[in-house]
Amino acid sequence: MTTATSPAMIKAAGVNKFFGDLHVLKDINLEVPRGQVVVVLGPSGSGKSTLCRAINRLEPINSGEIAVDGKPLPAEGKALAALRADVGMVFQSFNLFAHKTIVENVMLAPVKVRKVPSGEARKTAMELLERVGIANQADKYPAQLSGGQQQRAAIARALAMKPKVMLFDEPTSALDPEMVQEVLDTMTALAADGMTMLVVTHEMGFARRAAHRVVFMSDGEIVEDATPDEFFTQPKSDRAKDFLGKIL
Ligand code: ADP
Ligand code: MG
Repeated sequence: MTTATSPAMIKAAGVNKFFGDLHVLKDINLEVPRGQVVVVLGPSGSGKSTLCRAINRLEPINSGEIAVDGKPLPAEGKALAALRADVGMVFQSFNLFAHKTIVENVMLAPVKVRKVPSGEARKTAMELLERVGIANQADKYPAQLSGGQQQRAAIARALAMKPKVMLFDEPTSALDPEMVQEVLDTMTALAADGMTMLVVTHEMGFARRAAHRVVFMSDGEIVEDATPDEFFTQPKSDRAKDFLGKIL
């Protein structure tokens, strides 16, 4: 998949982040090769969301470097907008525009940001809605859809910008239990298509089945970086053992 010369799709080197006196990312070093699915686990407050937001430059960092597809993320400006488009992000809350239909939500950024002609954007949006299994909901408004359908629409919307990397921050945490699986299935299909993905989740079944690698964070640090099998059967640190003891 990756060769020695191809840069990591996501690379964080020596990343530190403070909120005031609070040191929330402590010397984070992480390389995600193209096509790899990394699940990030860790207790609440360990810095998982901040890491996602830093990779997407929604959150400035205090030191270190973050690069996507070999390109260091600049601090601001036009280049940032272009690089941010390389990174799709899906949050716990779907954040769809309530007054726009599902297909309009998916078309919006390509038309506004990428200046894609409306007809072409609609065609692509319909293909993406087909891919996430909700093409038949295209002309409805978000409130008319279930939570699972809305989250799949949010995934389609992120994919519409043709990102190189997808970040998921607890994408199923706000869903009713019966809707979790349809979203995880959509993510699994995306992974099978070769998308590079960083997924913060508490869904251990997904971590075991879909992840190539598990990164365990605690207190702003990456404490373990292992295959799912290693992590779940032989966690090395007391912090990981404690975490697994509480959730499994
Ligand atoms: P996680 O996603 O693992 O639950 P977060 O990245 O959200 O953790 O938070 C890491 C730490 O940073 C927590 O102690 C949290 O309270 C703190 N934090 C997060 N966002 C902010 C912010 N905007 N201002 C101040 N502190 C924050
Ligand atoms: Mg979080």
